[in-house]
Amino acid sequence: MTALTLETDVLKNFIDGKWVDVNNTTAVTNPANGERIVQVPLSDQSHVEEAVQAAIKAQKEWALVPAPQRAEVLYRVGMIMKDKKERLSRLLTMENGKVLEEARGEVQEGIDMAFYMAGEGRRLFGQTTPAELKDKFAMSQRVPVGVVGIITPWNFPIAIATWKSFPAIVAGNAVVWKPATETPIMAYELAKIFEEAGLPSGVINVVFGKGSEVGDSMVQHKDIRVISFTGSNDTGRNIASDCGKQLKKVSLEMGGKNAVIVMDDADLDLAVEGILWSAFGTSGQRCTACSRVIVHHKVKKTLEERLLAAMDHLTIGNGLEDGIKVGPIINEAGLNKIKKYIEVGKQEGATLLAGGTEWETNNPGYYFTPTLFTDAKPDMRIAQEEIFGPVVSLIEVSSFEEAIEVNNQVTFGLSSSIFTKDVNRVFKAQRDLDTGIVYVNAGTTGAEIHLPFGGTKGTGNGHRDSGVQALDVFTEWKAIYVDYSGKLQRAQIDTEE
Ligand code: NAP
Repeated sequence: MTALTLETDVLKNFIDGKWVDVNNTTAVTNPANGERIVQVPLSDQSHVEEAVQAAIKAQKEWALVPAPQRAEVLYRVGMIMKDKKERLSRLLTMENGKVLEEARGEVQEGIDMAFYMAGEGRRLFGQTTPAELKDKFAMSQRVPVGVVGIITPWNFPIAIATWKSFPAIVAGNAVVWKPATETPIMAYELAKIFEEAGLPSGVINVVFGKGSEVGDSMVQHKDIRVISFTGSNDTGRNIASDCGKQLKKVSLEMGGKNAVIVMDDADLDLAVEGILWSAFGTSGQRCTACSRVIVHHKVKKTLEERLLAAMDHLTIGNGLEDGIKVGPIINEAGLNKIKKYIEVGKQEGATLLAGGTEWETNNPGYYFTPTLFTDAKPDMRIAQEEIFGPVVSLIEVSSFEEAIEVNNQVTFGLSSSIFTKDVNRVFKAQRDLDTGIVYVNAGTTGAEIHLPFGGTKGTGNGHRDSGVQALDVFTEWKAIYVDYSGKLQRAQIDTEE
């Protein structure tokens, strides 16, 4: 199946509209069974240089193409993605491990983003505004930044790439994109789709390779004017610091420590469904995954019982097989990190109610059993640090106010959720939860692409992916004044008393 679907055994960079061989490569393996899928290039600084030069050249022309015409390419990209949805979804499950149903959802997110951003080609609104002086016109306009660098993680290898590249392209920029080395196939496929859709050469360039080499070269490159990064906090902080020194614009979307709050009046069956989906979907490897449940003491016992009963039905295995709910962990390092946190949780005194071990299988993939800790305290490491696996910790509280406080007591601020039937609590919660995304009577995952995606505090640096807000990352604002009085009018000085 692999050779058939990929049509190649060795991926190539996509630079200036051409497929470019790279001598040095490494194997990409399927996390569900350890099988080698393909070889991915390990490019170096010289490949980044080629890509940037191609992008500089292409961007000059692309910026002059009227935005509605630029948008037509995205529209075609969306149509091709729609045609290829099943193939893309299966390849995504093969390289990333998430179950097929979720892979289809991720590809759909990319399709939605294509049509949404194609619509922006006829908007890209600026503002007209009155001028202070007679016979003078004033307006603001979005203009492209130039060459933008996109660095993406393995956990949403196609959706996040579309959140970043589509707004960048419709706004008239050219892109150099470094996908995660673990999951290069979606990047290869998306580059082929751009090619088929007729995007001019050099407007998107894909350079495969390690973050420490390719990613860092992009961050340091003086002609890349924006870096849009999604990934871990450690990497993001270093990138921000390097970009800061160069006064380079940088957008960061990083980790989360997201909580579901379950109040005493909640529909508990619904809460269980929400927790299961957001804690164990994608094996907990989502930035928005629920990894804390903050539960009112009156319903704690019942919630524990119902969660445990429901967790029994979570079938683990290869995400391409029917009925599987929890797929593999991305790699051995990810698995080891989860195992470490299980020990930390036990040592800290939390009670392990379920899971806590690798899934016993002869399969060489990396699997971990859905895990439930209870009696966790808000300041424990398992309740503060991102685990990135199917591990959730219950924290008991006595009031709504305490629940909000506990939710906000982490350094991250990505997503939160509350289950309650009390409308007053709903409105207070959406005001007081210090996260970029808030759900009411739903789990912590499930973003829609036309709303801003991102978080407060340590999750980011104030920018947002997707939504119309994504355009702020990839455009500069230009203020334009047209004086048609025929004389020199000085602002703030020549105003009539
Ligand atoms: P990561 O290790 O930081 O890697 C992310 C990307 O950065 C990869 O492409 C990586 O390249 C690259 N990179 C690594 N070192 C670099 C460097 N020195 N300079 C430039 N680029 C570098 O993160 P990950 O483990 O792939 O992703 C998981 C993290 O992403 C989690 O913390 C998760 O919460 C976060 N995430 C956040 C969001 C959000 O929107 N808030 C969404 C999804 C994921 P390699 O391919 O070489 O590793």
